[in-house]
Amino acid sequence: PYNHTDYRFWHPMAHPNDWAEREPLRIVKGDGLYIWDDKGRKMLDGFAGLWCVNVGHNRPEVKAAITKQMDELAYYQLFDGVSHPMAEALSNRLIQMTQQEDMRRVLYGMGGSDGVETALKVARQYWILQGKPQRTRFISLKNAYHGVHMGGTSVSGLPIYRLNYGPMLEGCTQIESPWQYRNPWNCDDPDTLGKLVAEQLEREILYYGPDTVAAFIAEPVQGAGGVIVPPANFWPLVREICDKYGVLLIADEVVTGFGRSGAMFGSRGWGVKPDIMVFAKALTAGYVPLSATVLNQRIEAAYLDNRDARGLLMTGFTYGGHPLACAAGLAVLDIVEQENLPANAAHQGEYLLGQLLPFESRFRSVGNVRGKGLMLALDLVEDKASKRTLAPDNGLAFRIAEAARDAGAVVRPVGPKLVLAPPLTIDKAGCDTLVLALQTAFEKEDR
Ligand code: PMP
Repeated sequence: PYNHTDYRFWHPMAHPNDWAEREPLRIVKGDGLYIWDDKGRKMLDGFAGLWCVNVGHNRPEVKAAITKQMDELAYYQLFDGVSHPMAEALSNRLIQMTQQEDMRRVLYGMGGSDGVETALKVARQYWILQGKPQRTRFISLKNAYHGVHMGGTSVSGLPIYRLNYGPMLEGCTQIESPWQYRNPWNCDDPDTLGKLVAEQLEREILYYGPDTVAAFIAEPVQGAGGVIVPPANFWPLVREICDKYGVLLIADEVVTGFGRSGAMFGSRGWGVKPDIMVFAKALTAGYVPLSATVLNQRIEAAYLDNRDARGLLMTGFTYGGHPLACAAGLAVLDIVEQENLPANAAHQGEYLLGQLLPFESRFRSVGNVRGKGLMLALDLVEDKASKRTLAPDNGLAFRIAEAARDAGAVVRPVGPKLVLAPPLTIDKAGCDTLVLALQTAFEKEDR
């Protein structure tokens, strides 16, 4: 008989992730900073699942909150004047946490892609309510990742995510990303680079005409594109330009929200108040799916000022604001605040970066090491002087990631890059484990 724990019954490609015929790394258990595979290997989770298990695995507080809610009310909806206390409590908590940003309203979904889609739709509706229906364009950054739905795919700045899906959403363009290591100007002075990219944003707005642009959307620190940390002047300049032309500013905080970049919010770390913030991943730390798209006072006013518009915001998901997810979210935010995880991310991130920077001179293929908080990346190159990147079929990043597993840590190979994003609960010993595993892997593979 079929038995779901007997791998002999499994089709190797029944849920394809990379269509590979090889055995997957099969994770069966998690506790704190560590995960175990089905062969009993214990590894430090250097990627927090997928940038999300920020409070660590198997937290009793989160389990207890979900179980308690399950006993009381597993599901109810949030439409037509219906509500439940968990959604209300979490919404109030989010609004209280984002007071500094003037945030007023929360729209729920199940994951980051839903949150982004809701943000894009609200941005367009905002302009319709302002009597400017022609403001429909979205500008974003190259190397950006904003999820899998059609809107998020259209504003993505990683061509592989947009290819072969037919026409994208009309009116979406991407400008260069503020990447110090690789940019078309060969500019490695942060201030100058920040200005160059910001000027490009202004030119893009003027080229199409400010009256056609709905919003600029970006990640405070680009994650999936390879941890691209913008210069300090970049986000403040972006806010200035958006204000000058009335363009809405959407911060995709799906990865950077709740501490990962070393500040409570990535945008707050850059001293900037977005009009819309999108949260997911870290909000429930991977225990259950949830996204929250948070709207500021300016957007709220557009709806409140227009009586007929109040019913327009029809972007609700059946499972958005799911009681179990809201309960988990509240427990996770308690941990984030009580353990001051943003400060720990800043502190441990600095230590980790300091330990990894010497890899640039120690290993042949490490062209660049960078990071902010607990988002870090190592760029692998064929030639350090020219920064020529490894051929797509080179496979070194993958081999190093595999060797690192044998040496006790999971890191993520992304093309010719290795990306690190451990739980924000990591301590110095955990950082050392991660560095040692990587070092062992490079010593073995990077010869
Ligand atoms: N935005 C960003 C910045 C992300 O990193 C991701 C996921 N990696 C998403 C959106 C999409 O989130 P999800 O996969 O939960 O739909």
